Amino acid sequence: MRRLDARNLPCERCAPKRLRVPMACPLRGEAFMEDAPAVEVHGLSRRYGELLALDRLDLSIGAGELFGLLGSNGAGKTTTLKILTTLLLPSAGTAWVAGFDVVHAPREVRRRIGYVPQLVSADAMLTGRENLVLSARLHGLRRAERESRIAEALQLMDLTSVAGALVRSYSGGMIRRLEIAQAMLHRPQVLFLDEPTVGLDPVARHVVWDRLRELRVQFGTSILLTTHDMEEADVLCSRIAILHRGRVTVQGVPAELKAHTGSEATLDDVFIQATGAVIDRGAYRDVARTRRTAQRLG
Ligand code: ATP
Repeated sequence: MRRLDARNLPCERCAPKRLRVPMACPLRGEAFMEDAPAVEVHGLSRRYGELLALDRLDLSIGAGELFGLLGSNGAGKTTTLKILTTLLLPSAGTAWVAGFDVVHAPREVRRRIGYVPQLVSADAMLTGRENLVLSARLHGLRRAERESRIAEALQLMDLTSVAGALVRSYSGGMIRRLEIAQAMLHRPQVLFLDEPTVGLDPVARHVVWDRLRELRVQFGTSILLTTHDMEEADVLCSRIAILHRGRVTVQGVPAELKAHTGSEATLDDVFIQATGAVIDRGAYRDVARTRRTAQRLG
């Protein structure tokens, strides 16, 4: 976190709105926010009735990181993503994304993020290009900018040759790449992806990984993804956190976590140790939902 000094104290107009993070002052300009952490979460909790889905979560993700959030079905990964993308309010605790409080400055957060949800979000009855035009409008991109951004996104996601085809004719991997292109059109600082490669074959999965790495290099995008795929977490993520029953049990660099677990340990071993490999109540509903997503993309 940045240190508090007179230069980054919130201005008088922001103080009454309780924008407690210094770099969250919108009057101080974009440059001021550039080195804000991608995500800062303290004591974040979320209840669904009696169920405590998130239990005093702490998480810190630096700018430019590619961070993996792991955990068994029902551990609270999607709930975390929904709070960070302002789709859900926390029951307690605080969360900042790109320097803005998700509860007190949700519009500022939304301007700076992209989100690819677990369920398929691209419109199957439109072409790839039409989906992108729709997203460009939703993101408020000016007409003059739209064409070049769409062409660039299609090229980056290797979809230029199929841009005019209906999305219902796309493979699962192409749909995911299109959705990432849609989420990136406005060049967000932080990209959230909920199980981006679930249901994809190994080739399609590797293509998505390559595209995500490229986004990071080309635009310095910070990426937070959830995954059940230990290989994905191992080869793609600079750091991971493992959630278990709404709490972070393990956090760190994959190679260090493996070494700490044992000389021949894999990330599977780290995961099993961190979660105790127990079957949680309510897991059936979560497994069924994940399978539905996989079937739609497969
Ligand atoms: P998965 O890996 O299966 O996607 P997850 O780690 O993303 O699971 P969440 O979807 O965040 O887990 O769910 C956390 C817990 O909260 C689960 O027990 C789930 O059943 C419950 N839950 C999620 N959404 C709701 C809701 N709208 N109402 C009630 N309970 C919910």
